[in-house]
Amino acid sequence: MKTIGILGGMSAASTQTYYRQLCELTRQRLGGLHSPELLIRSLDFARIEQLQASGQWAAAGEILNREAHALARGGADFIVLATNTMHKLAETMMKDVAVPLLHIADATAERIVASGLRAPGLIATAFTMEQQFYRQRLETAGLQPLIPANDDRARVHQIIYDELCKDITTTASREAFVQVAERLVAQGADCMILGCTEVGMLLNQGNVSVPVFDTTLIHCEAALALALTP
Ligand code: GLU
Repeated sequence: MKTIGILGGMSAASTQTYYRQLCELTRQRLGGLHSPELLIRSLDFARIEQLQASGQWAAAGEILNREAHALARGGADFIVLATNTMHKLAETMMKDVAVPLLHIADATAERIVASGLRAPGLIATAFTMEQQFYRQRLETAGLQPLIPANDDRARVHQIIYDELCKDITTTASREAFVQVAERLVAQGADCMILGCTEVGMLLNQGNVSVPVFDTTLIHCEAALALALTP
């Protein structure tokens, strides 16, 4: 089994889901007492969020690059960056790192394309919804992502940072997310990407009317598949 290197803490709430999910999937796949070989480097999200909010992406990129090198030195065979947003810095992060990155958008796009769907709604941070780095990657895979309107994007972004990243879930925010998802369906979305690793705390196949693609769960499944590939 290969060693998975998780660069997490962005936020700590979703990194816990990665660990739990990878353990669960490994038990399902291999049975008995099996558990995944992995390293988790969990950063202080307050420092990262401050760099994001002030547009200091180069400084954030340097931190991620340093941490990716540390994971490789520690024995990771490949790296999982446990946040969609910070994939904006994937190239900088992986500069001169000797092991590969398992890209969250590629893993997700592959799954949607295989399902025959084409127009995913994208629910994520404002960075991920509004900038090119993520949507472009989906478009290259042949998808036509749809994003929420201005007000909905602002509300989703606020709930992610003010609540979900602090491990807070409320009925009101769940309802708000459900409504954002349904407005995307009304706009023509034929499926929904939970494009932020915390969105699964509020949305799932039980409260969205189109097929749901949760990037956290898909990323974990892809990581385990790669770890078990000889
Ligand atoms: N975990 C989130 C994501 O998947 C947001 C936190 C961050 O900005 O990294 O985009």
